[in-house]
Amino acid sequence: MKLTVLGYQSPYPGPGGATPGYLVETDQGKVLLDCGSGVVSQLGHFVNPWELDGVVLSHLHHDHITDMPILQYAMMMAEASGKRNKPLKVYAPDEPRDLNKRLTYKQYIDLHPLFEDIHCSLAGIQFSFLRTDHGVPCYAMKLEYKGKTLVYGADSGPGTAWNPFARQADLFICESTYLERNRPDGKRGHLTAAEAARYAAELDCRNLMLTHLYPEYRHDEVLQEAAPYFRGGILIADIGLQVEL
Ligand SMILES: [Zn+2]
Repeated sequence: MKLTVLGYQSPYPGPGGATPGYLVETDQGKVLLDCGSGVVSQLGHFVNPWELDGVVLSHLHHDHITDMPILQYAMMMAEASGKRNKPLKVYAPDEPRDLNKRLTYKQYIDLHPLFEDIHCSLAGIQFSFLRTDHGVPCYAMKLEYKGKTLVYGADSGPGTAWNPFARQADLFICESTYLERNRPDGKRGHLTAAEAARYAAELDCRNLMLTHLYPEYRHDEVLQEAAPYFRGGILIADIGLQVEL
Protein backbone atom coordinates (compact mmCIF):
# COMPACT_ATOMS: atom_id res chain seq x y z
CA MET A 1 0.00 0.00 0.00
CA LYS A 2 1.08 3.55 -0.64
CA LEU A 3 0.51 6.37 1.85
CA THR A 4 0.43 10.02 0.80
CA VAL A 5 0.26 12.80 3.37
CA LEU A 6 -2.36 15.36 2.34
CA GLY A 7 -2.41 17.35 5.59
CA TYR A 8 -0.63 17.10 8.93
CA GLN A 9 -0.98 20.43 10.74
CA SER A 10 -3.15 21.24 13.73
CA PRO A 11 -5.22 22.88 15.00
CA TYR A 12 -5.23 25.06 11.88
CA PRO A 13 -3.27 24.93 8.62
CA GLY A 14 -0.31 27.15 7.85
CA PRO A 15 -0.17 29.07 4.54
CA GLY A 16 -0.92 26.61 1.71
CA GLY A 17 -1.14 23.84 4.30
CA ALA A 18 -3.82 21.44 5.52
CA THR A 19 -4.91 19.79 8.76
CA PRO A 20 -4.89 15.96 8.95
CA GLY A 21 -5.64 13.85 5.90
CA TYR A 22 -3.86 10.78 4.51
CA LEU A 23 -4.49 8.98 1.24
CA VAL A 24 -3.87 5.23 1.20
CA GLU A 25 -3.81 3.46 -2.17
CA THR A 26 -3.60 -0.24 -2.99
CA ASP A 27 -4.00 -2.09 -6.26
CA GLN A 28 -7.64 -2.55 -5.17
CA GLY A 29 -8.67 1.01 -4.33
CA LYS A 30 -8.18 4.32 -2.57
CA VAL A 31 -9.07 5.34 0.97
CA LEU A 32 -8.87 8.66 2.77
CA LEU A 33 -8.02 8.75 6.49
CA ASP A 34 -9.39 11.95 8.04
CA CYS A 35 -10.53 14.96 6.05
CA GLY A 36 -9.28 18.17 7.60
CA SER A 37 -9.13 21.73 6.35
CA GLY A 38 -7.47 21.88 2.91
CA VAL A 39 -7.41 18.11 2.39
CA VAL A 40 -9.78 18.00 -0.61
CA SER A 41 -7.62 20.58 -2.40
CA GLN A 42 -4.47 18.53 -1.75
CA LEU A 43 -6.22 15.27 -2.69
CA GLY A 44 -6.68 16.52 -6.24
CA HIS A 45 -2.91 16.60 -6.78
CA PHE A 46 -2.84 12.81 -6.47
CA VAL A 47 -6.25 11.29 -7.33
CA ASN A 48 -9.65 12.56 -8.39
CA PRO A 49 -12.09 12.80 -5.47
CA TRP A 50 -14.60 10.58 -7.29
CA GLU A 51 -12.06 7.71 -7.32
CA LEU A 52 -12.24 7.30 -3.52
CA ASP A 53 -13.63 3.99 -2.23
CA GLY A 54 -14.07 5.21 1.31
CA VAL A 55 -13.22 7.61 4.11
CA VAL A 56 -12.37 6.70 7.70
CA LEU A 57 -12.63 9.53 10.23
CA SER A 58 -10.73 8.97 13.47
CA HIS A 59 -12.84 11.43 15.45
CA LEU A 60 -15.09 14.41 15.01
CA HIS A 61 -12.90 17.35 15.94
CA HIS A 62 -12.88 20.12 13.33
CA ASP A 63 -9.25 19.69 12.29
CA HIS A 64 -10.09 16.13 11.13
CA ILE A 65 -13.48 16.64 9.45
CA THR A 66 -13.77 20.21 8.19
CA ASP A 67 -13.52 19.30 4.50
CA MET A 68 -16.18 16.55 4.70
CA PRO A 69 -19.03 18.83 3.53
CA ILE A 70 -16.82 19.88 0.59
CA LEU A 71 -16.11 16.25 -0.25
CA GLN A 72 -19.89 15.68 -0.22
CA TYR A 73 -20.21 18.36 -2.93
CA ALA A 74 -17.44 16.68 -4.92
CA MET A 75 -19.44 13.40 -4.78
CA MET A 76 -22.63 15.21 -5.84
CA MET A 77 -20.90 16.73 -8.86
CA ALA A 78 -19.27 13.42 -9.74
CA GLU A 79 -22.68 11.72 -9.81
CA ALA A 80 -24.23 14.57 -11.79
CA SER A 81 -21.50 14.30 -14.43
CA GLY A 82 -21.61 10.49 -14.60
CA LYS A 83 -18.14 9.95 -13.11
CA ARG A 84 -19.53 8.06 -10.15
CA ASN A 85 -22.67 6.05 -9.51
CA LYS A 86 -22.45 4.98 -5.88
CA PRO A 87 -22.36 6.70 -2.48
CA LEU A 88 -19.07 7.26 -0.70
CA LYS A 89 -18.58 4.89 2.23
CA VAL A 90 -17.69 6.83 5.38
CA TYR A 91 -16.80 5.29 8.76
CA ALA A 92 -16.98 7.69 11.70
CA PRO A 93 -17.66 7.70 15.46
CA ASP A 94 -21.29 8.54 16.18
CA GLU A 95 -20.45 11.14 18.82
CA PRO A 96 -20.70 14.10 19.16
CA ARG A 97 -24.15 13.59 17.61
CA ASP A 98 -24.53 17.07 16.12
CA LEU A 99 -21.28 16.73 14.18
CA ASN A 100 -22.01 13.14 13.12
CA LYS A 101 -25.30 14.29 11.57
CA ARG A 102 -23.40 16.66 9.28
CA LEU A 103 -21.37 13.82 7.75
CA THR A 104 -24.24 12.65 5.54
CA TYR A 105 -25.62 14.45 2.53
CA LYS A 106 -28.57 13.23 0.44
CA GLN A 107 -27.76 9.96 -1.34
CA TYR A 108 -24.07 10.72 -1.76
CA ILE A 109 -22.74 9.36 1.54
CA ASP A 110 -23.08 5.86 3.03
CA LEU A 111 -22.31 6.47 6.71
CA HIS A 112 -21.24 3.64 9.04
CA PRO A 113 -20.60 3.87 12.78
CA LEU A 114 -17.03 3.36 14.00
CA PHE A 115 -16.48 1.54 17.30
CA GLU A 116 -13.43 -0.12 18.78
CA ASP A 117 -14.65 -3.63 18.09
CA ILE A 118 -15.65 -3.26 14.43
CA HIS A 119 -13.52 -4.58 11.60
CA CYS A 120 -13.95 -3.35 8.07
CA SER A 121 -12.32 -3.77 4.71
CA LEU A 122 -11.74 -0.96 2.22
CA ALA A 123 -9.56 -1.16 -0.91
CA GLY A 124 -8.66 -4.69 0.21
CA ILE A 125 -7.16 -3.33 3.46
CA GLN A 126 -8.23 -4.88 6.77
CA PHE A 127 -8.97 -2.14 9.32
CA SER A 128 -9.06 -2.53 13.09
CA PHE A 129 -9.42 0.18 15.71
CA LEU A 130 -8.25 1.24 19.18
CA ARG A 131 -9.89 3.89 21.34
CA THR A 132 -7.33 6.55 22.25
CA ASP A 133 -7.00 8.91 25.19
CA HIS A 134 -8.69 12.01 23.77
CA GLY A 135 -11.47 14.48 24.59
CA VAL A 136 -14.10 12.86 22.33
CA PRO A 137 -14.37 9.23 21.13
CA CYS A 138 -11.27 8.89 18.95
CA TYR A 139 -9.91 5.77 17.26
CA ALA A 140 -6.42 4.87 16.13
CA MET A 141 -6.55 2.58 13.12
CA LYS A 142 -4.44 -0.38 12.05
CA LEU A 143 -4.32 -1.05 8.31
CA GLU A 144 -3.10 -4.48 7.22
CA TYR A 145 -2.42 -5.32 3.60
CA LYS A 146 -0.22 -7.98 1.98
CA GLY A 147 1.76 -8.60 5.18
CA LYS A 148 2.43 -4.92 5.93
CA THR A 149 1.03 -2.95 8.86
CA LEU A 150 0.39 0.76 9.08
CA VAL A 151 -0.89 2.24 12.33
CA TYR A 152 -2.36 5.73 12.23
CA GLY A 153 -2.53 6.86 15.84
CA ALA A 154 -5.04 9.69 15.29
CA ASP A 155 -5.08 12.09 18.28
CA SER A 156 -3.96 10.67 21.57
CA GLY A 157 -2.89 11.59 25.08
CA PRO A 158 -0.50 9.58 27.23
CA GLY A 159 -3.26 7.23 28.47
CA THR A 160 -3.61 5.18 25.27
CA ALA A 161 -2.89 1.44 25.61
CA TRP A 162 -0.84 1.01 22.42
CA ASN A 163 0.49 -2.43 23.21
CA PRO A 164 -0.19 -4.80 21.48
CA PHE A 165 -2.26 -2.83 18.92
CA ALA A 166 0.67 -0.91 17.39
CA ARG A 167 3.35 -3.49 18.14
CA GLN A 168 5.94 -3.95 15.36
CA ALA A 169 4.08 -1.74 12.91
CA ASP A 170 5.97 -1.17 9.69
CA LEU A 171 4.93 2.46 9.99
CA PHE A 172 3.51 4.16 13.09
CA ILE A 173 2.05 7.57 12.30
CA CYS A 174 1.97 9.21 15.70
CA GLU A 175 0.89 12.65 16.70
CA SER A 176 3.42 15.12 18.11
CA THR A 177 1.24 18.04 19.00
CA TYR A 178 3.71 19.49 21.48
CA LEU A 179 7.37 20.21 21.80
CA GLU A 180 8.64 19.99 25.37
CA ARG A 181 8.53 23.76 25.79
CA ASN A 182 4.74 23.80 25.16
CA ARG A 183 3.74 20.62 26.97
CA PRO A 184 0.83 21.44 29.33
CA ASP A 185 1.11 20.25 32.92
CA GLY A 186 -2.49 19.14 33.35
CA LYS A 187 -4.66 16.60 31.55
CA ARG A 188 -4.06 16.59 27.82
CA GLY A 189 -5.28 14.57 24.85
CA HIS A 190 -2.02 14.94 22.95
CA LEU A 191 1.63 13.87 22.96
CA THR A 192 5.05 15.45 22.55
CA ALA A 193 7.51 14.44 19.83
CA ALA A 194 9.71 12.76 22.45
CA GLU A 195 6.78 10.74 23.83
CA ALA A 196 5.83 9.59 20.32
CA ALA A 197 9.40 8.42 19.75
CA ARG A 198 9.50 6.58 23.08
CA TYR A 199 6.26 4.74 22.26
CA ALA A 200 7.58 3.77 18.82
CA ALA A 201 10.72 2.35 20.47
CA GLU A 202 8.79 0.46 23.19
CA LEU A 203 6.46 -0.97 20.55
CA ASP A 204 9.39 -2.04 18.36
CA CYS A 205 7.96 -0.23 15.33
CA ARG A 206 10.11 -0.13 12.20
CA ASN A 207 9.40 3.45 11.18
CA LEU A 208 7.79 6.45 12.82
CA MET A 209 6.10 9.41 11.18
CA LEU A 210 5.56 12.43 13.42
CA THR A 211 2.44 14.38 12.57
CA HIS A 212 -0.30 16.68 13.90
CA LEU A 213 2.22 19.50 14.08
CA TYR A 214 1.62 23.05 15.13
CA PRO A 215 2.11 25.21 12.01
CA GLU A 216 4.73 27.36 13.73
CA TYR A 217 7.00 24.42 14.62
CA ARG A 218 10.07 23.90 12.47
CA HIS A 219 10.41 20.32 11.28
CA ASP A 220 14.05 20.14 12.33
CA GLU A 221 13.19 20.96 15.96
CA VAL A 222 10.49 18.25 15.98
CA LEU A 223 13.04 15.75 14.67
CA GLN A 224 15.67 16.91 17.16
CA GLU A 225 13.40 16.18 20.14
CA ALA A 226 12.35 12.74 18.87
CA ALA A 227 15.65 11.40 17.51
CA PRO A 228 17.35 10.45 20.83
CA TYR A 229 14.52 8.03 21.70
CA PHE A 230 13.98 5.97 18.53
CA ARG A 231 16.56 4.18 16.43
CA GLY A 232 14.25 3.25 13.55
CA GLY A 233 13.45 5.56 10.66
CA ILE A 234 11.84 8.89 11.62
CA LEU A 235 9.85 10.89 9.09
CA ILE A 236 8.29 14.29 9.68
CA ALA A 237 4.91 14.53 7.96
CA ASP A 238 4.74 16.96 5.08
CA ILE A 239 2.23 17.50 2.29
CA GLY A 240 3.00 15.17 -0.60
CA LEU A 241 5.29 12.90 1.45
CA GLN A 242 4.77 9.33 0.21
CA VAL A 243 5.65 6.02 1.84
CA GLU A 244 5.41 2.64 0.10
CA LEU A 245 4.66 -0.28 2.39
ZN1 LIG B 1 -6.50 16.86 15.86
